[in-house]
Amino acid sequence: MKNFRIALLPGDGIGPEVIDETVKILDRVADLCGFSCTGETYSVGAGEYLKSGEALPQEVLEKCAECDAILLGAMGLPSVRLPGGVELTPQLDIREQLDLYKGLRPIKLYHESDTPLKGYKQCEIDIMLVRENTEGLFSERTKIADFEADKATDVMLISRKGADRICRAAFDEARKRRKHVTLVDKANVLPSMAYLRHIFDEVAKEYPDVDTERQYIDAMALFLVQRPGDFDVLVTENMFGDILSDLLAGIVGGMGMAPSADIGDKYAVFQPSHGTAPSIAGQNLANPIATILSAAMMLDWLDTEETRAGAAMIYRAVEIVFENPANRTSDMGGKLSTTEMGALIDGELGKK
Ligand code: ATP
Repeated sequence: MKNFRIALLPGDGIGPEVIDETVKILDRVADLCGFSCTGETYSVGAGEYLKSGEALPQEVLEKCAECDAILLGAMGLPSVRLPGGVELTPQLDIREQLDLYKGLRPIKLYHESDTPLKGYKQCEIDIMLVRENTEGLFSERTKIADFEADKATDVMLISRKGADRICRAAFDEARKRRKHVTLVDKANVLPSMAYLRHIFDEVAKEYPDVDTERQYIDAMALFLVQRPGDFDVLVTENMFGDILSDLLAGIVGGMGMAPSADIGDKYAVFQPSHGTAPSIAGQNLANPIATILSAAMMLDWLDTEETRAGAAMIYRAVEIVFENPANRTSDMGGKLSTTEMGALIDGELGKK
């Protein structure tokens, strides 16, 4: 039986709570599908920074890189800041150091009662956001702002290599889905975005079977609220992707419903799109679904017959549990705790 070593990085805030539920689900589908997972838990995040002075110790990153995949909860706390005022973001350091350029953020509506938009039924919102993870407007994020200076700048870096590989990733995703890619940019104003569009157009020629569309980020924010059902794969730079992923989460029930995968050519990290939600941490209130769905993405990425079967089981179990609108945690207007939601998904899997 194939065993997978999974690095578990629960992190801060609600991270440990959502990881605990997800590990139970992983163990369950591993049992059902004939594989096993050995979790190796490491301390990374604001808590680790307070203990050791390092949010992401180098030896931990090396251990993570030895594992088959990395499952992360959430990291950073508003009260723990670096000199210069920004929060600790070891999850971004991991993406950059392991070159996890492909940020996949699937968004799916599981039940019509979960969207604030009128007229959308189950599965009528089904979008894959492909976010560039290693450059864009985050390219100089580790600089320290000089509060005494007259100005501060950030650089929007679009490299040929970075643009080319993220556009290809989007087209490859589209081929697995409804074969439609929308580039989201600001090519009417920013030269870096005109460059991104030029490279997108070049790559598009190699995928004649995939339909393409180009939209400006501001218009896209409008269209995602007005007619999200018209979109399949979106591809964009780092910062625009960061913002759009929260907007997208908002139209299917909130951050607790938004899984993600950060994938490179060799390594991958799977984590919910949400942050540490400090105001609800430690209270058994967090919605674990985004993390559970991220684990399903991990099983798909591990790409054996058994793990793919496990992923399909998780997706199906979430669909069935969400058919009943009473089965919701408090962020979605329900009464279930984190552990009760985890138990419902686990119970559904147990029926198989
Ligand atoms: P970050 O910048 O680290 O991604 P953020 O500023 O986007 O974090 P989050 O921590 O994601 O903030 O929280 C945004 C809002 O969503 C908060 O009100 C938080 O309580 C809520 N929230 C986030 N994740 C969950 C979850 N899993 N369950 C319930 N509520 C959540």
